[in-house]
Amino acid sequence: MDRNNYPIIVVGASIAAISFIRTLRVNNDKRKILLIHGEDRLPYKRTKINKNMVRGFDKDDFKIADREWYKDNDVDLIYDRVINIDSAEKVVSTQRGLVCSYEKLMLATGAVSVIPKIAGIATENLHSVQNASDVDRVLETCKNKDRFLIIGGGVEGVETADQLVRKGKAVILANRMKYPLQKLFPISLLKVLEQRMIDKGVKLFQGVSVAAIHEHNGHYAVNLQGQELEFDEVIACTGAVPNIELGIKAGLKVERGIIVNAFMQTSDADILAAGDVAQHERGIVTGLWHAAEHQGKLAALTLLDKPEGHTLPPFRLKTEVFGLYMFSGAYEFVIPGVDEEVEEVDGDIRRIMYYSDNALKAVVFLNDGPRAKTYQQALFEHWSKEKVQDELPLPPKMTFSFG
Ligand SMILES: Cc1cc2nc3c(=O)[nH]c(=O)nc-3n(C[C@H](O)[C@H](O)[C@H](O)COP(=O)(O)OP(=O)(O)OC[C@H]3O[C@@H](n4cnc5c(N)ncnc54)[C@H](O)[C@@H]3O)c2cc1C
Repeated sequence: MDRNNYPIIVVGASIAAISFIRTLRVNNDKRKILLIHGEDRLPYKRTKINKNMVRGFDKDDFKIADREWYKDNDVDLIYDRVINIDSAEKVVSTQRGLVCSYEKLMLATGAVSVIPKIAGIATENLHSVQNASDVDRVLETCKNKDRFLIIGGGVEGVETADQLVRKGKAVILANRMKYPLQKLFPISLLKVLEQRMIDKGVKLFQGVSVAAIHEHNGHYAVNLQGQELEFDEVIACTGAVPNIELGIKAGLKVERGIIVNAFMQTSDADILAAGDVAQHERGIVTGLWHAAEHQGKLAALTLLDKPEGHTLPPFRLKTEVFGLYMFSGAYEFVIPGVDEEVEEVDGDIRRIMYYSDNALKAVVFLNDGPRAKTYQQALFEHWSKEKVQDELPLPPKMTFSFG
């Protein structure tokens, strides 16, 4: 058996991991790194995979960095899965039989999709869109199947529905909540989305749980709100949870995620964790690309003895579906501590700004995409109502460019 010693081992090779390595190298840290990637292609931008099903993609289309980048930065990138961590011996073991010791370990194992158990269908026959290879499989299926049941009305479910409709597929979407994207937007905006989905032919079922599917004559069927519906394939977009398996094996303190402090330190002094796998103060798991990137950087700064604490900046998400540009910023703050809500409509643009003591606490809007960065800044800096009216007026000021 092979035994190697590495000053730094990183498990999971997505944005938290790459941002961690990039920050170390930018700061001139030359320690050799072993990067263990549990997938079948160069580390890639996960956010792209379910938004590009219409166009399709080749294996390395969404790579974060070229193959040479790893070599140039003295990173040994291997395609394998870590199956155990012995934190007392400071050793990781992989599926392919590699055993390596580390001085410092970074866990960036992200999230895993939650695949529901549904009577009448084997779990392996349910599709998901968590990894690029999952989307490859859906696209392969699309070559000869035309009718899809999507379970889940969150961002992944709605984006996947949008792509499949644009590919000319028939889509049934079964959502447990009353509206799609209900955790991110208020009802007045979601009614616009709901109507768009219906207009584009999505058979939308709200407030339903898919408990059983039956198979007959080579296709599947489900009964939803008294209707018998046929389809060929099922895609489960039923959420993801922090991938804490290795954290548990390493004996780290875990709850929903691996518990980290503001500096991305776990309960083991030699193990850091960042990105979707990490659980922060107040039980927060971020689940967003830029948040994972930021945390990777913070973990590196901790290792470099230049610690910077995480302040959990307001979370925002944008998605372009069914011809709408949708932006949700810090909407989870709306329930506690907001005392004023300003709703405005101008043509296709609809927005609601939420204030507390005249400081902007949350923003949601439709169709004001060109000004998304300004909204983001307004949210980060908690602009007053007057400043919002000056800098983000509705209707937007006309801008002209000459030359
Ligand atoms: C389809 C989809 C669309 C998304 N769209 C958006 C979006 O529009 N905007 C946004 O902000 N966020 C989006 N997200 C969320 C975003 O992609 C994540 O927040 C981000 O990728 C988290 O990065 P991470 O580095 O923590 O880990 P992940 O990207 O989850 O990657 C973790 C990696 O670790 C690997 N790994 C796990 N266990 C092991 C092991 N034992 N050994 C080796 N490797 C292992 C996994 O295989 C995986 O490659 C989307 C997510 C999905 C699935």
